[in-house]
Amino acid sequence: MTLADLVPSLRPTLAARLEPGLWPLTAAATCDGRLTVGGADLVELAGRFATPLVVLDTADVRARCRAYRDALPEAEIAYAAKAFLCRAMARTVAQEGCSIDACSGGEITTTAAAGVPGERILLHGNVKTDEDLKAALDARVGRIVIDSLDEIDRLAALVPHRQQVLLRVTPDVDAGTHPGRTTGTHTSKFGLPIATGDAAAAIRRVLGRPELELVGLHCHIGSQVTSIARYESAAVRVIALLAAVSREHGLALPQLNLGGGHAVGYTDGAPSMDPAAFGRAIRGTLARSARAHGIPVPALTIEPGRAIVARAGVTVYRVGAVKRTAGRTFVAVDGGMSDNPRPALYGARYPLRLLGRATKAPTEQVSVVGRHCESTDTIADDVALPCDIVAGDMLALPCSGAYHASMASTYNQVGRAAVVAVGGGAAMTILRRDTPEDLLRRDVVCGQQVAPGPVGAEAHHDAPASVVPRPSNVKRR
Ligand SMILES: *Cc1c(COP(=O)(O)O)cnc(C)c1O
Repeated sequence: MTLADLVPSLRPTLAARLEPGLWPLTAAATCDGRLTVGGADLVELAGRFATPLVVLDTADVRARCRAYRDALPEAEIAYAAKAFLCRAMARTVAQEGCSIDACSGGEITTTAAAGVPGERILLHGNVKTDEDLKAALDARVGRIVIDSLDEIDRLAALVPHRQQVLLRVTPDVDAGTHPGRTTGTHTSKFGLPIATGDAAAAIRRVLGRPELELVGLHCHIGSQVTSIARYESAAVRVIALLAAVSREHGLALPQLNLGGGHAVGYTDGAPSMDPAAFGRAIRGTLARSARAHGIPVPALTIEPGRAIVARAGVTVYRVGAVKRTAGRTFVAVDGGMSDNPRPALYGARYPLRLLGRATKAPTEQVSVVGRHCESTDTIADDVALPCDIVAGDMLALPCSGAYHASMASTYNQVGRAAVVAVGGGAAMTILRRDTPEDLLRRDVVCGQQVAPGPVGAEAHHDAPASVVPRPSNVKRR
């Protein structure tokens, strides 16, 4: 029995336990079921902004950026924008001294629209379309990371000025993570393998193009990586390649980019990467390895995405239905794979928390599922929730800041959830909810186009809405 049970009037003020490391740094829970983030009450926010709703703790994002800057004061921290991007996010991380790692023209356009200067943007991607490259050149992106031989001549022919580039290589280090999140081995679609000589051949090719200035090498071994030693192994192999370049070409490439992928624990007790420990180990390894090869220590860039923003986000859902069948309890909520595809993609696991009311009911293992027309539309397969949960209750899902909103879809023509930034008790929409008009915006019917498209020809083979025959031969039920 807790103090809150003995003295119910104390409940609103007594702190309740939150799993450490999973919730935003400013999150606070009380025994009456309240949960605040950045001083804002999640139930109130849900009432104001509707559910599902992603709440983002700006102080948490800033603190994660600072932890990396403190751990590696002389390194460049390039936030991987694909984890979550909008102008407010780009501005926040840029204010904290981070660069931005983009992997499409769209990410560049958003980052540039936030006022981040081009020299602080890197462009990645194993396929860069003409549109991506045009956005990069328009924004005067500082560095472009070359991922294939095909790209070298194409890029060289396109750039109006000498362009700084890095070359992405694969060091053949298994990141020890989910196969769907491994990128540093020879079987990866990303980068050029070191061991096969492909990386060295690409370096020769880049050095043969005066339009391109090779400033360093890049590798990214995967995502949700918990082992610092795997980054050290990758660093040792890439430094050996830098030394080989120095021997063969008499060139000291100044930059080494070790990518991102630092793990975040999504369930109670799951390991996370500690930036301070990472910083100490990597600085030591770079110094030792460079000394052993007799080359200067390269300037380091790292690209954490998830580790910056995952824990800042909490999703609030409303329960739409509770169904008990064949020994299983389904708790269905008003979101799902459209706002969080990670369980379907990787079997990701999360805890959930009942919001807004206290209960003494014992917990039961339930499946929290989404509203979409897919059996894999699960949020948490086997999670403990109070057995008195009913439709209308609200649930909070932690660790929703990374790869939720950025991977959101409008599947089933369900509008994407809003993202609201909180801090100091105030809340501000940074991405608004999709409206029904948004869902119709790309939908073109002949004669009803609001503004002519660039080619103005999308609709010519569509029948006008007025002549679509009525299905008179369909029997009414
Ligand atoms: C995805 C990616 C990152 C960021 O990965 P996280 O797991 O979010 O840290 C960094 N660099 C590159 C090249 C990536 O593709």
